Amino acid sequence: LPRQPAASPLLALDIGGTLIKLVYTASCEGDGGGDDGAELRFAKFERRRLQECFEFIRAKGLLGCNGTRSTNENVLLKATGGGAYKFADDFREKLGVYLDKLDEMDSVVSGANFLLQNIPGAAFTHMNGQRNPVDVSPNNLFPYLLVNIGSGVSILKVTGNRKFERVTGTHIGGGTMFGLAKLLTGCKSYDEFLQLSQKGDNFVLDLIVKDICGELVCQKQGLSTSTLASSFGKVITSKKRLTDYKPEDLASTLLSAFTYNIAQIAFLVASLLGLRRVFFGGSYIRGHKSTMENISFAIDFWSQSQMQAVFLRHEGYLGALGALMSYGD
Ligand code: ADP
Repeated sequence: LPRQPAASPLLALDIGGTLIKLVYTASCEGDGGGDDGAELRFAKFERRRLQECFEFIRAKGLLGCNGTRSTNENVLLKATGGGAYKFADDFREKLGVYLDKLDEMDSVVSGANFLLQNIPGAAFTHMNGQRNPVDVSPNNLFPYLLVNIGSGVSILKVTGNRKFERVTGTHIGGGTMFGLAKLLTGCKSYDEFLQLSQKGDNFVLDLIVKDICGELVCQKQGLSTSTLASSFGKVITSKKRLTDYKPEDLASTLLSAFTYNIAQIAFLVASLLGLRRVFFGGSYIRGHKSTMENISFAIDFWSQSQMQAVFLRHEGYLGALGALMSYGD
């Protein structure tokens, strides 16, 4: 099958368990104006809104300048994520395009390496309220640990361009947290959940060391009084029911429980592999400050400042970016 015609904008997709991510170059209709053919654009849709995604692709003219169905029969789009297999027929029926299916981990690693090696300022730390760029050059980049937090979590050791190993992962990831968040807080969207968490106080539900030992004993034993002992642990001894808790506090507790847990697993894997730099990607992070702060704090705390958590711009689009890069192969 032929590739996307050279004259048309490039489009690649990552259809994951929760979200459909699109990366594309400015369309030939000039919706960015001027000579911006190399400019990358990003869009995402909930997976259950596949029809809206099709509309978007059509409306933006992303299948070519004459994006009518009959001329698209030969278009082959690069696509990754499990949905690239599941929805291939829908793409053929509704858009008349074929999907060239790419391995998800290959794509995520290519996307991360592309960002790190080509986009200045793509990598940064976020700690103690400060965002600082991380200088990466090809000589100091590898090896690194890549923790991609999507619906589930994938943890990869990356040793070079296209050189990586999926070390492990966990099924307790963004999907788990957001699923519980919908049940417990009634939130309708991920952004609403993040906003709720911002206004909440996790110590209403979380059991901290001080609650167990009392402040004096803690101080004597040199324990940090505010260290989390058990997420949601206070609920057990409380007479409160779910509706007695504020959605804000529930959201805050959920976000800290999952974020610290994923960061701790990342630390353990990095320790086992002797890696000091851990890059975090996936839509879970969504550029949210306190998520990045908590990940950074946890990595710093467990590693006694020997490891660094690094974040990426466009963190949710690593797979789609990698897929877009493969047009050049
Ligand atoms: P996947 O490829 O598995 O869909 P992503 O990297 O796209 O994974 O991350 C999905 C996770 O990101 C969700 O489980 C949720 O925690 C979070 N998320 C961020 N933005 C959204 C959104 N708009 N809708 C749903 N979940 C979102």
